[in-house]
Amino acid sequence: MTNPSALVQAATLPELLSEAAHIRDHHHGTRVTYSPKVFIPLTMLCQDKCGYCTFAQPPARLASPYLSPGEVLAIARAGAQAGCHEALFTLGERPELRYPAAQKWLDDNGYRTTIDYLVAMAQLVLDETGLLPHANAGALSRDELAALRTVSPSQGMMIESLNADLECHRGAPDKTPERRLATLEAAGELQIPYTTGILVGIGESRQDRIDALLAIAESHERHGHVQEVIVQNFLPKEGTAMHRAPACDDDVYLEAIALARIILPPEIHLQAPPNLSDDFGRLLDAGIDDWGGVSPVTADHVNPERPWPQIERLREVSEERGKVLAPRLTIYPEYVTAPDRWLDPAMVFPVGDRSDAEGMGRDDPGAFWPERTMDNAKVADGADVLVVGDESTAWYSGSPRSPRLIVPGPARATGRLREVLDGVLDGQEVGEDEIVTLFAARGPEVNAVADVADDLRRQAVGDVVTWVANRNINYTNVCTFKCRFCGFSKGPMSLNLRGTPYLLTLDDIADRTIEAALDGATEVCLQGGIHPDFDGDYYVHVAHAVTEAVPGMHVHGFTALEVTEGARRLQEPLADYYQRLIAAGMKSLPGTAAEILDDEIRATLCPDKINTEEWLEAHRIAHQAGLHSNVTIMFGAVERPVHWARHMIRTRDLQKETGGFTEFVGLPFVHMASPIYLQRGARRGPTFRETLLMHAVARIAYHGHIDNIQGSWVKIGFDGMQQLLQSGVNDLGGTLINENISRAAGADHGQAATIEDFQTLVAPLGRTLAQRRTDYSIVDRHEHLVPSRAVGEGTLGIGTNGRAPRRKKLAVIAE
Ligand code: SF4
Repeated sequence: MTNPSALVQAATLPELLSEAAHIRDHHHGTRVTYSPKVFIPLTMLCQDKCGYCTFAQPPARLASPYLSPGEVLAIARAGAQAGCHEALFTLGERPELRYPAAQKWLDDNGYRTTIDYLVAMAQLVLDETGLLPHANAGALSRDELAALRTVSPSQGMMIESLNADLECHRGAPDKTPERRLATLEAAGELQIPYTTGILVGIGESRQDRIDALLAIAESHERHGHVQEVIVQNFLPKEGTAMHRAPACDDDVYLEAIALARIILPPEIHLQAPPNLSDDFGRLLDAGIDDWGGVSPVTADHVNPERPWPQIERLREVSEERGKVLAPRLTIYPEYVTAPDRWLDPAMVFPVGDRSDAEGMGRDDPGAFWPERTMDNAKVADGADVLVVGDESTAWYSGSPRSPRLIVPGPARATGRLREVLDGVLDGQEVGEDEIVTLFAARGPEVNAVADVADDLRRQAVGDVVTWVANRNINYTNVCTFKCRFCGFSKGPMSLNLRGTPYLLTLDDIADRTIEAALDGATEVCLQGGIHPDFDGDYYVHVAHAVTEAVPGMHVHGFTALEVTEGARRLQEPLADYYQRLIAAGMKSLPGTAAEILDDEIRATLCPDKINTEEWLEAHRIAHQAGLHSNVTIMFGAVERPVHWARHMIRTRDLQKETGGFTEFVGLPFVHMASPIYLQRGARRGPTFRETLLMHAVARIAYHGHIDNIQGSWVKIGFDGMQQLLQSGVNDLGGTLINENISRAAGADHGQAATIEDFQTLVAPLGRTLAQRRTDYSIVDRHEHLVPSRAVGEGTLGIGTNGRAPRRKKLAVIAE
């Protein structure tokens, strides 16, 4: 379309619908959103008398002018329990100006105005349930809007119509065009993500509708604040002045929706309520991309006679038309992802706590209660956490709950995603945009991505599922670095949340290696905090202690940070340092300390750690020295999908250069005891959809370059791993006796897995389980490493600085 005004004036309805759907598809793709919410009708008194309204009631019909705080909270809690994200406060406009009973109630309860009470109740709901308030309080002053902005991430008010002469608004002083437009404008000036809309069929003309849409568009162009526009159809209701008026004509309504899509800037989301149309699928044909709030708990108090369709029905109707349904928050993703501009500082964490990496609502079923203080339950290995208050029932990484079933499931991809997947199947390499598109998959699209990843897995490595018998040895939790996600480290600047700082002696490390060998391990994975007393020789001595205790034990250590720091403290070139580590027994380098390889994100997550280029350089030099290593990604804290894409592309580029990476390992952020989460600075880890996609997309992005994709059962759990194995994953990682780092961050999935656990996981999939070495060669079942001595017979001592004292001494550093 080149000339919207000409089209608006001259086109037929089918032409308008087609153009509107085209604009929607181009700007919003296949996604159709809804907001799972509860309605909280704070007061049904209203100073206005609108001819179509059944919401407003006189005081005589109400037990109380306002819901009490207890009633508000009871509704909100029911909504939170049912998995809602939004508390929609619906209320009449300024009832205290019309009804003395309303003013008396406010006076008696210590509130000056209805808006003061609304602010208090929004805060209460937010604090107690975590539901995000959306204040729908009508025409407000600038001060009122500003007060609500501190407790409500978004607000809204229907423009309805800008025709000042409508009969239905004769008794409604708040419905004048001037008041409505002034409110819309003030909301823009205050940078409030705002919802507005028009009512169709209340006596206005086609031109009135166009004028209202143009006014909304102009205000948005000035401020960028109109996140969505609702186009709602009039239906006559018993007991109202307009009960004999004809319902809004279907074609007029569809045309109004299409006009809205054509006239409004395309980024504005367009909503039509599905409960007010019998054939609501047609609304999609007119260009909407949002169904609005859908309540699994409360009635629509504005249209109580029209129950909401079940979410499943919305999903079916959306999918019948090639769309996918996705839950959003009350504030749309474009605004969630620019919090400095659009959110009061107090709202940033509550919004992030319910959002995923795209800024959409978390889509794991279940309740997301706010997590409260953790009691400092001290245990020896610094690993246990305690969350108090209501227990969330939704899945998150590290929780003991099973995730929802995504794979297997029906698969479908259309539009841009189909193009990307077809390109992958044709052998094309995915770039940043394509990877971001893959991560945006929802509903059956996720299965389409997983299916392609599963095919690529079969091509790359066949049906064998591998695992390695290993033991993690985290020699110290004392660390001079201040990674904000790390619940493991203890140090002068860390939160010291859990447990006692410790440092293993070289004999302890050797003993643990011997125990691991006796348990059948072929690898020890060595990583820990950066102790202030360590010089680079410490790591050489550790590698030596391990190989001396158990000749042939694969030393999988140390992180890029440890080797970079070790070489720096010795002022030795990294390449030379690697040679000494290799001589002492080091065989490969774990890919940890990568977190997100994007300096913008590292500045938040781990500001004093090595940067992206330093991590890549440590692995580049390791590969040049003949060491293998792997790529990890710790995802779900603060970053967005574009950062995941950059991480994959940067590591893939290095792999093209050196070929030294053996595998990719997805490490979902475990939030529970992480300092950055406790300081209200991170999300609650990835959703399960994101976790599954991380592995599937990695399989696609690294295809032809890295053959092995590993999932972390410690963080994802066995049920989740079974789905990942059908989505590109071919490796289960290690048995991991003593996995302290995930547990220190709050993960609940035990400390060790057995071969029986792995067999139970793999057998139903018809895949073959095989034990591998670190380098992915397969272990003969009779192979055993033989320790050089018994446990407890060591004489290496503590050696924090690499100098071994003569006698063994267990170091426990007092807090
Ligand atoms: S992640 Fe590693 S470097 Fe960072 S604080 Fe924790 S132990 Fe230290």
